[in-house]
Amino acid sequence: MTIIVQKFGGTSVATPERIRHVAEHALITQAKGHQVVIVTSAMSGETDRLLGLAHAVAKDPTTRETDVVVSTGEQVSVGLIAAAIHDMGGKAISLLGFQIPILTDGVFMKSRMTAVSTDAITAALNKGNIVVLPGFQGITPQGEITTLGRGGSDTSAVAIAAALKADCEIYTDVDGVYSADPRMVPNAQKIHRISYEELMEMASAGAKVMQMRSVELAAKYNVPLHIRSSFHNVEGTWVTDETPEMESVMVSSITSTMHESRIAVRDIPDRCGLVAQLFEPMANSNINVDMIVQTVNTEGLSSVAFTVGKEDLKKAMQLTENGAKEIGAGRVEVAGDVSKVSAVGLGMRSHAGVAVRMFKTLAALNINIQSITTSEIKISVIIEMARAAEAVKALHTAFGLDKPQT
Ligand code: ADP
Ligand code: ASP
Ligand code: MG
Repeated sequence: MTIIVQKFGGTSVATPERIRHVAEHALITQAKGHQVVIVTSAMSGETDRLLGLAHAVAKDPTTRETDVVVSTGEQVSVGLIAAAIHDMGGKAISLLGFQIPILTDGVFMKSRMTAVSTDAITAALNKGNIVVLPGFQGITPQGEITTLGRGGSDTSAVAIAAALKADCEIYTDVDGVYSADPRMVPNAQKIHRISYEELMEMASAGAKVMQMRSVELAAKYNVPLHIRSSFHNVEGTWVTDETPEMESVMVSSITSTMHESRIAVRDIPDRCGLVAQLFEPMANSNINVDMIVQTVNTEGLSSVAFTVGKEDLKKAMQLTENGAKEIGAGRVEVAGDVSKVSAVGLGMRSHAGVAVRMFKTLAALNINIQSITTSEIKISVIIEMARAAEAVKALHTAFGLDKPQT
């Protein structure tokens, strides 16, 4: 009997009706002869509401207490889904992170899973239950509740599917992975089949359809993913190993991030080890630093610029200002509200000219590029956030992505 893990995101469990729909869907899957594990997010908007509450009672709530608060969103969803299944005459049981258990490292709000135990899940499945599990949360070996970072339920679902050697279906509010965020680009087209590597690059470049770490895990444990709509019963996007046809597409998607900040440290003396000294405290504080660019001026002094997400800006500025003083560097500048716009495609490995086409398209719109970075299958630029939507649409057209894919 196959085990199927079905993950439902926030909009898919947003109302009592949607929750009953999830329950019904799981019962239909079970009736086809499968064992079903549901992994669910909090109801849409709930995690933001809980974060807001934590910040309403405290200027700077600790990450530990924030996790105690935000992890409750998923607890509500699992209980409601199991209750709805009971109401329909089915058998179901909810289990929380500590009951499974899902073990995590000790980093609050950005935890990584270290082990998923299958004993309790398998025992419940073998008694004929649909097992309903919370995404996003886990527990440290010391018994502390932690969460996995925004969008973390995707990662929970993949880790649970890998541990159970199950199929994994990701139900969301779009019909699959698109050539751009369909909310931003009305002409975006559904991608029928995509490689883990490409989706990983898309996720790291801001396509929030899947949390990046979830795709990384799926690739590592070879879990095929089917990303599909919980609203329409249509085939979605299959995420698999690469096939030879995938490389024929030069650029398959355009993505963007919003509300990043670019921090620049000027006049860094030309001595070995100083840049490491500057970045080490941020690494120790688990701050994700991106788009690092170093330039050297004629006097031999250098500047280093990098981007951080909105949530890390305050801490990153504090650490950078201290670090700059310690290494005898000059002023620290910050530009808020920049956007990273990226083109991703496996075909970049074998086709030249992607960068030039990207730069020319932006130049034609008079959009200034502040930094550039590339990987084997991705080119990213930092631009002013106010121009991001326009840039994404223009690049989508320039790379021929407006028409349906065959
Ligand atoms: P869920 O709550 O189901 O986890 P998310 O809101 O986290 O859903 O992710 C789905 C959203 O991701 C979509 O509504 C869409 O706006 C956004 N998105 C961004 N880029 C893409 C893309 N390339 N393809 C599909 N969706 C995308
Ligand atoms: N509820 C969490 C969030 O909003 C986790 C998730 O939905 O994936 O980020
Ligand atoms: Mg999500």
